[in-house]
Amino acid sequence: MNLVAESARLEAESPRARLAWAVDRFGSDLLFTSSFGAGSAVLLHLWSEVARDLPVVLLDTGFLFAETLAYRDALVARLGLRVEVVRPAVDREAFLAEHGRTIMQFNPDFCCQHNKVDPLAPYVAGARGWVSGLRRDQGPTRAGTAILEQRPDEAFVRVHPLATLTLAEQRAYLVDHDLPEHPLVARRYLSIGCEPCTRAVAEGEDERAGRWSGTPKAECGLHVAR
Ligand code: SF4
Repeated sequence: MNLVAESARLEAESPRARLAWAVDRFGSDLLFTSSFGAGSAVLLHLWSEVARDLPVVLLDTGFLFAETLAYRDALVARLGLRVEVVRPAVDREAFLAEHGRTIMQFNPDFCCQHNKVDPLAPYVAGARGWVSGLRRDQGPTRAGTAILEQRPDEAFVRVHPLATLTLAEQRAYLVDHDLPEHPLVARRYLSIGCEPCTRAVAEGEDERAGRWSGTPKAECGLHVAR
């Protein structure tokens, strides 16, 4: 497959068609991870339509908002999703006891490595494709997101069906399909990850400005380099 040409061709297709292409191409070797965060219902809804029998992987770091877990339960009931929950090898309390309760403030890369990157590694190793909901308008670290991407050190293809979607289109999709939004969005949490590393954003701030706020860190390392 000429990945660059295929990615360029998929630019003109809908998010649904891009996802269907990936399901057709990779079958059960297609990994789909969702944070069940703000706007996640778009891709989860599409997944329920074109890949209903394949699992959705939720990484539960132990630091997620209670609202995220409730939102997951609501979407699973509504969309009939099959969710596989992945957890770190060392649970939250043991991790904090060993590394300190403020580890995520003074070494967030270490915390993300242990609680996000490492637990997903076996899933990533077995995948030929990995679907995630990155959008180009989420901020500078995601502005160059291609529909399809294969990095030199990775054996799988990253698939971003929503890359061209705007925040306004994402919101419209939820309304048009009568899908609930994450309850914290109403309080201006526009990008939602672990509770200790997420804050609400002010009017005019970047959508992801509330992630690891006050530090140079902008990404956990799963989808975009830290
Ligand atoms: S987002 Fe924060 S709490 Fe979650 S794994 Fe990364 S540093 Fe730790």
